[in-house]
Parts: sequence; C-alpha cells; structure tokens
Amino acid sequence: MLGLMQDWPLLCHRIIDHAAIHHAERPVISRSIEGPIHKTNYGQIRKRALRVAQRLDRDGIKLGDRVATLAWNSWRHLECWYGILGLGAIYHTVNPRLFPDQISWIINHAEDRVMMTDLTFLPCLESLADKLPSIERYVVLTDSAHMPATKLKNAVAYEDWIAEADGDFAWKTFDENTAAGMCYTSGTTGNPKGVVYSHRSNVLHSMTASFADAMDCSSRDVVMPVVPMFHANCWGLALTAPMQGAALVMPGCKMDGASIYELLNDYRVTFTAAVPTVWLMLLQYLESTGSKLPYLERVVIGGSACPRAMTQKFEDHYGVRVIHAWGMTEMSPLGSLCTLKPEYADLQGDAKLDLLQKQGHPPFGVEMKITDDNGKELPWDGKTFGRLKVRGASVTKSYYKGDGGDILDDQGFFDTGDVATMDRYGYMQITDRAKDVIKSGGEWISSIDIENLAVGHPKVAEAAVIGIRHPKWDERPLLVIVMKKGEKASKKDILDFMAGKIAKWWMPDDVAFVDEIPHTATGKIQKMALRDIFKDYVLPTTEAAE
Ligand code: ADP
Repeated sequence: MLGLMQDWPLLCHRIIDHAAIHHAERPVISRSIEGPIHKTNYGQIRKRALRVAQRLDRDGIKLGDRVATLAWNSWRHLECWYGILGLGAIYHTVNPRLFPDQISWIINHAEDRVMMTDLTFLPCLESLADKLPSIERYVVLTDSAHMPATKLKNAVAYEDWIAEADGDFAWKTFDENTAAGMCYTSGTTGNPKGVVYSHRSNVLHSMTASFADAMDCSSRDVVMPVVPMFHANCWGLALTAPMQGAALVMPGCKMDGASIYELLNDYRVTFTAAVPTVWLMLLQYLESTGSKLPYLERVVIGGSACPRAMTQKFEDHYGVRVIHAWGMTEMSPLGSLCTLKPEYADLQGDAKLDLLQKQGHPPFGVEMKITDDNGKELPWDGKTFGRLKVRGASVTKSYYKGDGGDILDDQGFFDTGDVATMDRYGYMQITDRAKDVIKSGGEWISSIDIENLAVGHPKVAEAAVIGIRHPKWDERPLLVIVMKKGEKASKKDILDFMAGKIAKWWMPDDVAFVDEIPHTATGKIQKMALRDIFKDYVLPTTEAAE
C-alpha cells in the first residue's frame, strides 16, 4: 500500500518561492564586483530569477541543458542559480581557481551552452574562447554602464539581458530526481570529475544543513557564506539560507581580513563559513587591529583540518563557537559536523579543544563506516584508522558520463579517499588522505595530527608533513615549515615544542624550512608537489639505519 500524501517534488526553486512568500523583506547584501555594497531581498531575488528563467527559455535553453557560472558570491549569482534551476536547466559552477586548461576542459566536458560570468573573469574567458565551441552566449554579470567592449560571442550585460523579460513566467515542474547542479572535483590527479546534484539531493541536503546539530540555521541568522558558490556547492548555504529565511551577506571577490571583518561587523553577521586560510587572514587582522567580533555567534570551518590554535582563538578569545565540519564535493558537500552530543557537553578546556579537533558526527542522511584495505569494517574505538566510506541521500553514486567507473562498494558505500577514526559516539576524525598517510614500520602515521601540532608553535605559519623513504622503516615523517614573517626558529626549537605531545615514533625525523608550501587550486596543501620537491631528500636517520 502506498502512502496517501501529496506528490510534492523536492524542487530547489520551491526554496526561493518559500523565501519570497514568508521572508520577502529579508536582506540579501552583497559586495558588488563593481565595488559598492548592494542591497536586495528574497522577494526581489525571486522576481529577477524568474526573468533569468524566462530569458534563458527564450534563448532556447531547455530541461537538462548546462548553464555555466563563473562568478563570486553575489545577489546576481544567486538569481542565476534559481533562474537556471526553475527552468530545469543545470547550474555548472566553474571554479576560477582551476588552471585555464582545466577550465576549458570542464566546460567542454559539461557542454555548457551559456556562460554567466563576473567581470573579473573576462580576460580568462577571452583567452579561452576559441577552445569553447559549446558556449553560445556570454552573459556578463554587470550593467551596461560597467560593460566593457568584448569580442566574446553574443556577449551581453546581465542587466540589459534580463530587462528584455518581464518575469511573467511560471517555473517548470519535473521529477525531483532531475539534475540541478554540477560541480567538478579539483582533480589533483588526472582530469576533474563531474559531480551532478539532483533537486532532491540539494533540497534534502539544505534541510540537513539547517539542523541544530549541523549549522543550526534559522530566520534569526545573518549568514555570510565566504565559501564560494563555485566551491563544493557553497556548502549548501545558497539554498539553506533562503530555505530558513536567514538574511544573506555575500562577500563578492574580497576575502582579505579587513574586507571580511567589515561585512561581519557592519551587517551583524551571526554565522559564517569558510576554509581555514580565510580565518587565518581574519584572525591576523583582528590581532593587528585589536578588533572584536561582537555579533558573530558561530563559524563553520572545513575543507581542510581546522588547526587547534584557530579553534582556541575563536572560542576563548572572541567568544565565537567553532563548528568543525568535514565534507567533499561528492557529498553535496556536508558529511559531518562537530557539535557536542550530551556525552561530551560538559567538556572544558583542553578536553573540549581535543574533541573539537574531530570532524564530528554525521547528521541524518549520511551513513559512515571505516574499513581496512580489504573492505573489512574496523571498530569505532577512536584509535583504529581506516578508509572512510559513506552512503546517503546526497552522496554521489557515479561521476558525470561514468568517468572513474563504478565508484561504490557492494553495499553502496563511496570511498572518500580519506583515512579516519570513529569513536564510540560516532565522532569521526580524519587522520589523513589515503594517499598521504605515512607508513612507518607497517603502522600508519597521521600527517594531519603532526601538522596541527606544529602550527600550534607561536612562530610557525604553516606546516606540512610528508613521508620520506627510509631503509629501515619504509617511510619516516619530514616536517616542512613556513615561519611567520620575520620569525626564526631552529629545528630543535620546533621538535622540543612538539616532544611529549605525540607518540615518540610519530615525531618527525627532520624539519625543513621553506618560504612557501605549494597549494592546490582550492587552497589545500599539495602533498604530491611537495613530495616531488623533496624526492631526493635524505633524512639524518637514514645513515644510522644503513
Ligand atoms: P577540493 O579538493 O576541490 O577542495 P573538496 O572540497 O571536495 O574538493 O575536498 C574534499 C576533501 O577535503 C576531503 O575528502 C578531505 O580530504 C578534505 N577535507 C574537507 N574537510 C576537512 C576537514 N575538516 N579536515 C580535514 N580534511 C578535510
């Protein structure tokens, strides 16, 4: 027997409908690419998104067509997303931090028909245009006053383009499993792979993200997604905030400490989210100016491990709750968030900081397991490491066009490529990427733990640990360090600082000081490149072993 409930497909554009009916006046504030602050609201965003849909429809864009966006977080980008979604077309967020060759590769792979771009990226697109045959039109997200001369095919200023539509248009309806958005992984090895979200997976993910034990998002919040809409589906926030009727502050292209602080303070942001690099810049700014964060209540930190010192600064010094989160493009992207279950609610001081180092527990909709290399499940004892595998309503089941082949195990779990522990209460902690883990004497050493410890040294700006070949132990850890500007320390200073805080056999065999550590397009440490730089490095412990 089937249930007798109405068939109400979970379609993303219903989110903006809801926001426009129940939270019409809620502000959406953006730092525009042209410079000034721009203010609008959900009622207006919906009206203009309808024009986007109507205009795309007139240009012949149909259900299932891909429309690329190459843009920062702004009200216009948001209108584009909802306009594309409401037509049943697919928003393809192109990450401008990819290399130009990768950008043209993914646009061709996705066969995007329209490109909606910020002014910032015109030079890049102009240099690539010959290689982008599928793009029929370039819509530049600006008005005619700021529209530069360009030879891009059928280029038009966004404001002129939507002015040709009156918004008298009805959203399309279709199956909730229809593709909604597309985002390519950054492809540190091989070509990027396309992840295709559905309307259903996006709607469910946005609900999940709002849970009190997730981002705890409500209509009383002022949300600033610093994480870009082009990175991992904006961690869901472009859908979650309007779903809950929270006000939005969109930072545009300026993510330096002073610019972020200005928005946090002027618009009384209560909740924000970004990768640790952004927060490092903000904390440095706060420290150098003596500023405080009187309005900010919560900060979600993810994308790479949140250093302990960062959690401590936010929590103890600025009174801001840190929610350490883990996820990946393939998971829409939220996988787990570190909020306190009753079992841990009374933790204080170091014990609490230790817990907040973990990436947290999965919300409803995400299942996890850890296994050995043969797929055997490992215990949840908080110590045993294994490959982290996930299954759920917003987890990918295959890549676009079947790239990468069959990616699920026989129980339907996806291997995240991360190595993690799980504790008895279901708290997950990433110890490494599977390919970065250091194998010493048949045991695994977590590079992330050592890195976190090293960046706790007051003079260290950034740290990375890689495995170096060793005749006796197979691999031993080398700690690579970038010092803070003007600071100096000896190898011994660093190792003395770390001694006693991790197992003795995890201690790095050597420390190398460098001016810069290579990063991926999304700001993560590029271990592969670092291993390449140090491929002929000989550890001082090598000779002794030979
Ligand atoms: P990109 O490489 O484009 O940034 P993703 O955002 O999908 O792509 O990267 C996901 C990966 O980032 C995860 O598999 C994990 O290795 C890493 N990651 C994300 N959040 C965390 C975290 N809180 N701690 C440690 N690693 C993280």
